[in-house]
Amino acid sequence: MDCIFCKIIKGEIPSEKVYESENVIAFKDINPMAPVHILIIPKTHIEGANALDKDNVAVVSEIMLAARQIAESFNLENGWRIVTNVGEDGGQTVKHLHFHLLGGKKLSIELA
Ligand code: AMP
Ligand code: ZN
Repeated sequence: MDCIFCKIIKGEIPSEKVYESENVIAFKDINPMAPVHILIIPKTHIEGANALDKDNVAVVSEIMLAARQIAESFNLENGWRIVTNVGEDGGQTVKHLHFHLLGGKKLSIELA
């Protein structure tokens, strides 16, 4: 399957990994929108939040706990944000579920 994030998981494309567990990996976004911009993804290919169901949603809990841990390791005690874009209107460009962890500055609250 031609999925850039699956290739990152397999090590076929390099990434700056910051976290890895059995089911989740996280790496630096190649085009950071904030001083800290990490992508957290499940190791299984899930197309996006629209493709979550009761059989695969448990990994989202693991991703949230990973986010907490990563935020702590980047000293984001002042706050941070986690975002997932869904589909065309949501601005999703990579069709593998991913959560953006953003921080390191006072983030804008602009949402649309
Ligand atoms: P989205 O627009 O929500 O689908 O986010 C996709 C994100 O993936 C963007 O922020 C890109 O900068 C990021 N991205 C794309 N290719 C890579 C890559 N090879 N390594 C790290 N981040 C990437
Ligand atoms: Zn994938």
